[in-house]
Amino acid sequence: MRILVAGGAGYIGSVTVDLLQRSGHEVHVIDNLSYGHQAALSSETAFDVADLSNGDAIKAIAEAFQPEAAVHFAAFIAVGESVVKPDIYYRNNVTNAQNLLEALRLTGGKYFVFSSTAAVYGEPTAIPITEDHPIAPENPYGHSKRMFEIILESYDTAYGIKHVIPRYFNAAGATETLGEDHHPETHLIPLVIQAAMGQRENIKVFGADYDTPDGTCIRDYIHVEDLAQAHLSALNYLADGGASVKLNLGNGAGYSVREVIASVERVSGRPVPVVEAERRAGDASRLIAASDRARTILNWTPKHPDLDDIVRSAWDWRQKHPDGYEG
Ligand code: UDP
Repeated sequence: MRILVAGGAGYIGSVTVDLLQRSGHEVHVIDNLSYGHQAALSSETAFDVADLSNGDAIKAIAEAFQPEAAVHFAAFIAVGESVVKPDIYYRNNVTNAQNLLEALRLTGGKYFVFSSTAAVYGEPTAIPITEDHPIAPENPYGHSKRMFEIILESYDTAYGIKHVIPRYFNAAGATETLGEDHHPETHLIPLVIQAAMGQRENIKVFGADYDTPDGTCIRDYIHVEDLAQAHLSALNYLADGGASVKLNLGNGAGYSVREVIASVERVSGRPVPVVEAERRAGDASRLIAASDRARTILNWTPKHPDLDDIVRSAWDWRQKHPDGYEG
């Protein structure tokens, strides 16, 4: 299949691009490199530095490539930042994403895979969270993702463009060659690893007074390779005539912030200095996925469910790239 991948030079995007290429798909990447890294793409990858805000440029790329499917990874992802800068979150995650969808529609493409998030559920009323859980985002990031989900539903109804909407829980880990390198880094596992390596003084625990066993937030960490595999399966599912669907992607196991820190200490053999800090705006206390639907519909099973294995892969990548891709 010809697949246009927006944000393909980013963390989850680059791992997925690599898998799609190894599976025989023809991939064209667009990325504005604001957060992505050209070094995360093989030299053979067809790639345009382009910004999704430029609808005409995106359409011209689609006219030349004639994609059958588009995959969107090019969103802003920081919950805390979205609370203080909602303007850029709605513009990029909704308006700019629609430019990609329009480019696909106007050039005859039929399938769209859109990275959504557990943040659409807000503070859960039941654990584990199924796709039928009430939708109640608690921050602009979650709202922006939900808005684009609704746009995709309308495009299916009106234009027959079929979608798979994976709702990620917490992406983590690395492959042999591709890893997590955000600037600034906001995610827990890479930050704890940097603290273990002495690259930062400590790790701040954002809230130790949540209603959880150790007082810190609980998340469901899912290996980035398992996420990539779900995207490959989602595209095959759509090509086989599958109906539009939303799918939670997680392991179904929750780990607290303190448990993640302990895992990094085990894997690295180094102590991590911890400082308790204020809660971060917009954080739900506990997010754990029920991924039965993805397991059934995509025949998907996470291959790396163990937290220490996930952390070890991230640790190993960081040892090879102590300053990230540009290091
Ligand atoms: N977290 C933390 N300290 C940090 C970064 C994150 O305590 O320096 C917490 C955060 O409040 C959340 C969990 O770690 O409870 C996972 O946060 P992350 O930003 O990695 O992912 P999110 O759940 O926001 O997608």
